Amino acid sequence: MQRFFRTPTFAGLVLLGIVAVLLSNLLPASGVVAQDQPSAHVARPAPAMSPFVDVHAHPDPSDPERSVRAALEAMKLENAAKMVLMPPPFTADDPGRFDAEIILRAAQGHADALAVLGGGGSLNAMIQQSVRSGDVGPEVRRKFKDRAEELLRLGAVGFGELTAEHFQGATPYQSAPPDHPLFLLLADIAAVHGVPIDLHMEAVPQPMPLPAPLKSPPNPPQLQANIAAFERLLEHNPHARIIWAHAGWDNTGYRTPGLCRRLLQAHPNLYMDVKIDPLKPGKNSPLSSGASGAIKSEWLKLFQDFPDRFVLGSDQHYPEPLPGPQRWEAIVLLLNQLPADLRQKIGIDNPNRLYPTSSVRADKQEARSCMLLGFVGRGGSGIGGAHTSDWLGGGGGGFARTGHPDALQQTMMDTVQR
Ligand SMILES: [Zn+2]
Repeated sequence: MQRFFRTPTFAGLVLLGIVAVLLSNLLPASGVVAQDQPSAHVARPAPAMSPFVDVHAHPDPSDPERSVRAALEAMKLENAAKMVLMPPPFTADDPGRFDAEIILRAAQGHADALAVLGGGGSLNAMIQQSVRSGDVGPEVRRKFKDRAEELLRLGAVGFGELTAEHFQGATPYQSAPPDHPLFLLLADIAAVHGVPIDLHMEAVPQPMPLPAPLKSPPNPPQLQANIAAFERLLEHNPHARIIWAHAGWDNTGYRTPGLCRRLLQAHPNLYMDVKIDPLKPGKNSPLSSGASGAIKSEWLKLFQDFPDRFVLGSDQHYPEPLPGPQRWEAIVLLLNQLPADLRQKIGIDNPNRLYPTSSVRADKQEARSCMLLGFVGRGGSGIGGAHTSDWLGGGGGGFARTGHPDALQQTMMDTVQR
């Protein structure tokens, strides 16, 4: 038997050798082609010319501590001063579902550099559940509000990532009316606490067939309009600051600078975080060649006309997926093309204003957390040399006021499953 197997294996190796020789003869031609493609040999881009805050990044839940270490390391290369980590928007039955607790725990001790949004693994799942069941009764609302406020007590500085229209990706297709009663309730809670909502919503101004190259299934063949309902959400509570995620990453063809302009003009509580995906730039990238090239004039004009309303949200995952260009590289490329005053606003001032937690409030909450949960928070000393002194009162307190997430992890799971 041994001999029987050994012989074909040897023959197989010889055959493989022949194939390899044949391939090697073909390789020079394909190698030349690869070298001609700019993406094949692009050197890692320079870091940001001035420090910036990345308000939209995701950890790997299988190893949050490693994710935090990777993010902190990458921030030095990027010249990122701060980063906001958050769970993606999950459905209730997703086995990979997680929420702010595991990120907060891993980020402890890095309040100077990292902030956390919560609700992607719980509030979003509750909204999707409610859309399906049609139940928006008092009990559903009470549980939703309790969970939202719990997230803030734990140390989340806002709510994210929520979604009203999300194509199949790492998470399944999801859709909910942006003026769903639970979104309106969340806007009220966010307004009371002075924290933002980060909302992922593909732009669908009117009912339309699923645009190419998206496939159905897993996405539906027909999309429901959502912009009018989104405007009702924005109008519902003008004190709720809503960050419409992923400006510059358009998958329907309707997230144009023109639509962004009209909505920014009409709704002073609307903000946008800018994303450029090098692997999938979409239909309306701010850069002339997708994820590279010069900034398009109509986008630059939009940033200049609304300098207080944009932030950078790379949607980068940490540790960085290998290989290939990373999402943070593309937004840094964009940032470096902005005039210095705009770089300062979009990179630093706007995020500082959007995630406001005064040192007084942070200290009070930290003291309370310590008393209730026996956790001693630690402030940080700041990194990156950024002028971000008003971020959570200059890095004392801040996200270290997270209490001890372990104690409440089960509460989150129960809340959604109930
Ligand atoms: Zn998203």
